[in-house]
Amino acid sequence: MVDIDYYEILEVSKTASQEEIKKAYRKLALKYHPDRNPGNKEAEEKFKLINEAYQVLGDKEKRALYDRYGKQGLENRGFEGFSHSSYEDIMDFFESVFGGSFGGFGFGRERRDQKYQLDLSLQMEIRFDEALFGCQKEIEYEYKSPCPSCKGTGAENGEISTCPECMGRGQIFYRQGFMTFSQTCPKCNGIGEVAAKICSDCKGLGYERKKEKIKINIPEGIDNEDRIRVAGKGNVGPSGERGDLYITFFVEEDEHFVRYNDNIYLEVPVFFTQAILGETIEIPTPRGKKELKLPQGAQDKQQFVFKGEGAKNVRSGKRGDLIAQIKIIYPKKLNEEQRELLRKVQESFSIESKPHEKKFESVFDKIKNWFNK
Ligand SMILES: [Zn+2]
Ligand SMILES: [Zn+2]
Repeated sequence: MVDIDYYEILEVSKTASQEEIKKAYRKLALKYHPDRNPGNKEAEEKFKLINEAYQVLGDKEKRALYDRYGKQGLENRGFEGFSHSSYEDIMDFFESVFGGSFGGFGFGRERRDQKYQLDLSLQMEIRFDEALFGCQKEIEYEYKSPCPSCKGTGAENGEISTCPECMGRGQIFYRQGFMTFSQTCPKCNGIGEVAAKICSDCKGLGYERKKEKIKINIPEGIDNEDRIRVAGKGNVGPSGERGDLYITFFVEEDEHFVRYNDNIYLEVPVFFTQAILGETIEIPTPRGKKELKLPQGAQDKQQFVFKGEGAKNVRSGKRGDLIAQIKIIYPKKLNEEQRELLRKVQESFSIESKPHEKKFESVFDKIKNWFNK
């Protein structure tokens, strides 16, 4: 019989960490799980091997033995692998690794003792300046509170019983030969409990909606999609405990200022003569006017940084910069006089006004030679 290589089976290197091995095992075990490959003998065999490999490599001691003495070394110490094991033994092992949370096609069943989550999320739109400088807002919102008639159970008089369909497991299993199939229990939707009779006040939902007004402080510099947590202002659970409220902010765009990370960008239109002469112009910043001294011959899209004039980072407390980017504007039309003036300007620069001539002189010679060969 050929000695099998457990590392090869799990597709990991001999130096892989325990963490990597577990990851690889999980990935492969799910891929070759019999529930996913019904009737596939090859997948079944592979699934067995994967579990056997992990039983060895997932255990530090067994792995060390295997590294030194191979499978033979393990067998000498009483390890049998899964070659003669039953399906149940393999599944027991598989579930011991994943805590039995693997249920057929629906991976992982969460225990849902409650009919609704305690944490509550809201979204809120705020103006650009409100986000930039921070503000206080009063908001009114709705939260869930347990239905007083059924105490949050959704059952008339709070009378609930274990689901007779799944015996409280939330999943129903059925077996066909080697394979076990499972699905979420349709009677209790996976909760494991059912109402003897549905509460007529909440229609079985288990909660009623309540309104609350609160004041929230929006910190200076909050950015689009940032979230704040208001502790203890979420939904109220059946035993009176209250979750948190999470508010995600959406910041409206400003017509002139654009925020990117902590920097704020401003486009500054500059007439071509202003750029050539290097004028000083006044620009707006979120916190007032500033002077922008253009250098002589400023380029289109050139950026000028105003340190610390950007948005405050809510985490570090540091302010970003304001970045003014110029956009050079050329006249769309010229009258006779302007045309004459510009021509004069051009002449005054003589050869400098025709940069292409100097640059292309040698290129013209070069391409002539290409054709005269
Ligand atoms: Zn059930
Ligand atoms: Zn109710």
